Amino acid sequence: DRVDNPYEGADVYVNPIWSANAAAEPGGSAISDQPTGVWMDQISAIEGNDSPTTGSMGLREHLDEAVVQAAGEPLVFQVVIYNLPGRDCAALASNGELGPNEIDRYKSEYIDPIAEILADPAYADLRIVTTVEIDSLPNLVTNVSPRETATPECDQMLANGNYVEGVGYALAELGAIDNVYNYVDAGHHGWIGWQDNFSASAALFYEAANTAGASPEDVHGFIANTANYSALVEDNFSIDQTVAGTPVRQSEWVDWNQFTDELSFSQALREELVSQGFPSGIGMLIDTSRNGWGGPDRPTGPGPQTSVDAFVDGGRYDQRIQSGNWCNQSGAGLGERPQASPESGIDAYVWMKPPGESDGSSTEIPNEEGKGFDRMCDPTYEGNPRNGNNLSGALADAPISGHWFSAQFQELLDNAYPPL
Ligand code: BGC
Repeated sequence: DRVDNPYEGADVYVNPIWSANAAAEPGGSAISDQPTGVWMDQISAIEGNDSPTTGSMGLREHLDEAVVQAAGEPLVFQVVIYNLPGRDCAALASNGELGPNEIDRYKSEYIDPIAEILADPAYADLRIVTTVEIDSLPNLVTNVSPRETATPECDQMLANGNYVEGVGYALAELGAIDNVYNYVDAGHHGWIGWQDNFSASAALFYEAANTAGASPEDVHGFIANTANYSALVEDNFSIDQTVAGTPVRQSEWVDWNQFTDELSFSQALREELVSQGFPSGIGMLIDTSRNGWGGPDRPTGPGPQTSVDAFVDGGRYDQRIQSGNWCNQSGAGLGERPQASPESGIDAYVWMKPPGESDGSSTEIPNEEGKGFDRMCDPTYEGNPRNGNNLSGALADAPISGHWFSAQFQELLDNAYPPL
């Protein structure tokens, strides 16, 4: 039987591979005992593929180690399900191994083997948290025709139905296992926080949860801000304020969004999801791995009231050039340490993206993981409609996504908030 909040009263699995990478960094031992997500980012990661991303351990080895770490007490094991056909349709940095139409391989070579391993009675006492298919469904809401932000790849994944089918299948197969807790990816406030996107995203999540044998009861909750940089709470301005005659919503930074931060967004999205038919007990996770925005540039109070832009820009913690920027953001820091039940409606703050793992290479690097070169990871790139044609804000000299990026790890330590 599932508990209401799997994180409550439980420890969370520490990935030995990430932990060793972190501990090998100067200062890294301050956080190397923190739990991070285990990403199944290719079929071969299930068995273990020695790639620079996932290292030598396959899923069973992680689960065996989790049983050891549990030592008979409740333990959450966090696994990221991330291998849809035509993966990452609005970007190139995390394109995957499956072509847009390879839904059958997704089911039989990826989800089925994972489900078989997770269902092994040896792991029945673990609380297995899955986060399902990062960035996929939100892309079908915002990055499709006729919008200016559309990509041909996202149009294709909407038309062929394989994201919705794949998410539904994953929820159904994994949700059939008693000790699995499925959390569906819900983007972040700087993506689906606009009115046009918010209810439509919830509706699409509901559709996926009723596809391929899934039911809304297979969904334990949702995760916001995975691998993103949106601030948890912006204390220095709020959405209903007006400054120098202009509402904060109309500032350049907020740009008509309904939310200013991940906490308010996550709590409101939870309500919206329940109102659209999800069980009232669903809970939210927020990825706080890299949204701390501490360090010397962190504002210590509100900005000047001379104009709404001066007010918001002077007070905001999130130092990005634009909230659509997502790759290796310069100036970012570790956010809240992982913790259970931090706020109403929030099951946990988690570090699903392992800090120090790149979001994508800043120049083209040939590789065998299917990863492309996305210019949003190039600091000289001047942007596209998805970031309002702004500079990318990315760090230079980054390796391909998932590979260790020491300079970024060091910056995340330096700019941690709360500080280390
Ligand atoms: C990459 C994955 C990696 C994950 C965690 C993603 O951007 O595409 O390969 O496992 O990040 O670092």
